[in-house]
Amino acid sequence: MNWVPELERLLPGRVASDETARAAVAGDLSPMRQMRQMRGEPMPMPDAVVRPRATEDVQQVMRFASAREIVVVPRGGGSGVVEAVAAAPGSIVVDLRSMDRIGPIDAASGIVEVEAGCTGAALEQALAAQGLTLGHYPQSIAVATIGGLVATRSSGQYSTRYGNIEDILLALEAVTGSGEVLRLGHPPRRSLGPEVLPLFVGSEGTLGVITRLTLAAQALPEAERFAAYGFRGMAEGIEVMRRLARAGLPIGLLRLYDAADAAHSFGAVLGEVVPGALLLISTLGPREVADAGALAAERIALAAGGDALGAPAAEHWLRTRNDVSEWAQYLEAGVVVDTIECAAPWTRLPAAYTAAAAAVRGLPEVVAVFAHVAHAGSTGASLYFTFGAVPGEAAQATSVHREVWGTLLEAVRGEGATVSHHHGVGRVRRPWAWQERAAERPLLAAVRERLDPLHLLNRGALWEDA
Ligand SMILES: Cc1cc2nc3c(=O)[nH]c(=O)nc-3n(C[C@H](O)[C@H](O)[C@H](O)COP(=O)(O)OP(=O)(O)OC[C@H]3O[C@@H](n4cnc5c(N)ncnc54)[C@H](O)[C@@H]3O)c2cc1C
Repeated sequence: MNWVPELERLLPGRVASDETARAAVAGDLSPMRQMRQMRGEPMPMPDAVVRPRATEDVQQVMRFASAREIVVVPRGGGSGVVEAVAAAPGSIVVDLRSMDRIGPIDAASGIVEVEAGCTGAALEQALAAQGLTLGHYPQSIAVATIGGLVATRSSGQYSTRYGNIEDILLALEAVTGSGEVLRLGHPPRRSLGPEVLPLFVGSEGTLGVITRLTLAAQALPEAERFAAYGFRGMAEGIEVMRRLARAGLPIGLLRLYDAADAAHSFGAVLGEVVPGALLLISTLGPREVADAGALAAERIALAAGGDALGAPAAEHWLRTRNDVSEWAQYLEAGVVVDTIECAAPWTRLPAAYTAAAAAVRGLPEVVAVFAHVAHAGSTGASLYFTFGAVPGEAAQATSVHREVWGTLLEAVRGEGATVSHHHGVGRVRRPWAWQERAAERPLLAAVRERLDPLHLLNRGALWEDA
């Protein structure tokens, strides 16, 4: 705490150390953290918050921190859900949200530069004014920052059309643990040996503070057509989704809900007849392309025995897609609710779904398990579970949460799935993450030694540091 006045003198007007400011940036939106907060448990918080306005400010913080061995936690919107931001006493949080300038935008090439603290929504608004879009629409788009989206290897709701964040990122600037500024990547692409840029995608604040990014923007589509189809069960639905994702169609939205998720999310639109699996699809692009894509998708879905359900369910999804307001009431009532996403090749998805759903439903505390398949690519897709569990006693919430995570991830691993798709590692997923990629660890550790030898950057996230 002694060093705070010195930091304030170094960066006048950019440092806050009052309790309200520190509490506001101490963590993320992970459900278990929210539950602890709702219960009034004392939450750890950093000693100071720095709100940099330029890359040079971030450099100053990193030089200051490395000279004194102070932990630094880069933070964007705090919308993470795996406790990647959990600032401990004695640390500094670097809150990037004051670095939110957009531009320059090279509209003709579709190349946009942006500071790391700009939210996805603000960037989309600026791009839309020029007829452009990143096409990266995470459910948290209003809160999540571009730096955070890159730092977590994010995926958006229209990733089938526009790719994941790694497909959209062209270059970035970051400040390392010792205060060195790195500029990585060059649009549109190049062949100058291995690129270092991808190392920062998913680095979760542990390799550097990302300050500026260069991204690829596409033309906004002229038209979009929505439809929904019902199937007997998930196996049939997944097979149709696979065919659609591999057919070369102009797909925007493509999601498949199991019966429990469909009844919960679309019951009001579907009425009493809820299919065993509900497929939502949109096709987009120039009007003729969107129309032709919709016809081709319908032919594939109907040939596979699908029931045409019209556009209302998909349009309902579009209207409500970012609404998560019901979560707080469950957490307040002591229900352990969370989401777990993983991914599998198409051939493994049905078994991974069946194994995981059965394993989690078998746990005595679990009262609800929903699942949907999304982020479809040509080789596979993400499997996304939402669960609710009621612990016998409030004090067991953390152990029940961990038991569900372990049961589900071990079940999907047993079926050849990866234990994550887009929420990252943080602290919640650490053990399973390193089980899966033990062989890659020495190489990654060597990179970390070079960029942050004192392990000051977001210590405790991603890596199992004390
Ligand atoms: C309701 C809800 C819906 C969500 N939907 C999606 C979704 O559809 N797709 C998806 O991918 N994710 C989703 N998420 C998860 C979350 O929004 C993403 O992980 C997002 O990328 C986090 O961005 P952020 O700016 O909020 O980062 P934060 O939560 O602030 O930080 C997350 C991690 O990134 C690091 N970080 C942040 N900014 C920087 C920076 N400038 N430099 C270096 N490291 C940095 C932090 O240190 C931390 O490790 C959702 C979350 C919620 C709460």
